[in-house]
Amino acid sequence: MQTTKPHVALLASPGLGHLIPVLELGKRLVTHHNFRITIFVLASEASTAQNQLLESSNMDVLNIVSLPSAEISTKVDPGAHIVTKIVVIMRESLPGLRSAIAAMKSRPSALIVDLFGTEALPVADEFKMLKYVFIASNAWFLGITVYAPTVEKIVDEEHVKQQKPLKIPGCKSVRFEDTLEAYLNRNDQLYGEYARVGLEIPEADGILVNTFEDLEPATLRSLTDAELLGRVAKVPVYPIGPVVRTLGPLVLADPVLDWLDKQPSQSVIYVSFGSGGTLSAKQMTEIAWGLEQSQQRFIWVVRPPVENDASGTFFTVGNDSDGTPDYLPDGFLTRTRDRGLVLPMWAPQTDILAHPSVGGFVSHCGWNSTMESLLNGVPLIAWPLYAEQKMNATMLTEELGLAVRPKMSTSSRIVERKELEMVVRKIMVDKDGQEIRDRAKELKHIAQKALSKGGSSCTSLSQVAKEIEMSLKAKVQGA
Ligand code: UDP
Repeated sequence: MQTTKPHVALLASPGLGHLIPVLELGKRLVTHHNFRITIFVLASEASTAQNQLLESSNMDVLNIVSLPSAEISTKVDPGAHIVTKIVVIMRESLPGLRSAIAAMKSRPSALIVDLFGTEALPVADEFKMLKYVFIASNAWFLGITVYAPTVEKIVDEEHVKQQKPLKIPGCKSVRFEDTLEAYLNRNDQLYGEYARVGLEIPEADGILVNTFEDLEPATLRSLTDAELLGRVAKVPVYPIGPVVRTLGPLVLADPVLDWLDKQPSQSVIYVSFGSGGTLSAKQMTEIAWGLEQSQQRFIWVVRPPVENDASGTFFTVGNDSDGTPDYLPDGFLTRTRDRGLVLPMWAPQTDILAHPSVGGFVSHCGWNSTMESLLNGVPLIAWPLYAEQKMNATMLTEELGLAVRPKMSTSSRIVERKELEMVVRKIMVDKDGQEIRDRAKELKHIAQKALSKGGSSCTSLSQVAKEIEMSLKAKVQGA
């Protein structure tokens, strides 16, 4: 007999930045709405961090199903953009998804896919499930994604060739220097794939976005205004954010939290460039000097440098006698031992940002990191690297007043140590950063309110849950 507890399936595309918010959304549907949740993940992307994340006890409430790994080596050029590879992996995983759903005794009532899973929406139709897209980014990004493919000529001629801002009805324009890589080369497979995603998103029954009403009121209005972007999106948009990890650390890293316990309140700046961000050796040297000269306490997540070439060559990494990796200045670890922690590869970020000793975040502005910082009232130094991060950085600095953006030297094309020292001091201690620090606290309260019972994001997710419950009820009654 079919149980009346709604069952929802979520499909996560590869990459921790995609998986983490999908897991969180799943958990929220369990804890707030008592739903049964199945999460489809792609086995091919198994990384240590992903495995630890999936195995952690917090996942007990979720049924995680690994889809068979997709062989893509013959389907995509080895040098293709990472996003192209992700969409091809997603495409190749569709038969596995279809079989997995067909084999389920109690079929889910709805399928929620993320940005790169839109080709799975017809699979939901095949099984008569409701279908949603969860954009783990903001409404502005959703706006450009659904709008740009409907005005390809303007994107090509005015935005890319003439480098004019792309006007999106009702939203802030996107400056050329902030634009998405996907638009830059019409001949690259990425261009077509990305445009397709933009056209497919409005095929869903609803679009969930990791933002909240008070963060992007005008953009959200334009997405639902029939005269503006509503014409393009056509479907309800549900701002349900911030959707961020709220339970224990991803990895056991208690020494980090112990160390933080010993530091004064809001005295530590956390430096991390997301799950995949890397910098050049020259840039890392400047960060090391900038942090040291700022005289602030810090936690820095380091990865071996990758130079700015398409093949992304890794350096052979050695160490100084004090253990300093050879891509950092000699003796750096010894000189900063009392003030800083250098963590290789990965850190328990949400726990760090939630710690009262943390007062600032040098971030690549990935949207998960941004929301984690915002929800903890931590101001940012915005240092975008790829994807929609430049748009995020612009929003954070120019619209929200939550961040400061370091200037790149026009000659060396890197952020030099003096500049970093200046922005770190500004965000952490200097008087001229007080407004940003105050704004971070204000936004934290606004975000918490949105998530609380009766708040805008809580209500939005309840609407989605209600829709799914109604559809299940209709099915049970019709059976
Ligand atoms: N993250 C983490 N530890 C790290 C680096 C990243 O826990 O050392 C988590 C971070 O908290 C966030 C996600 O990985 O939830 C990164 O997502 P984001 O959108 O910020 O950036 P992406 O990695 O997708 O570029």
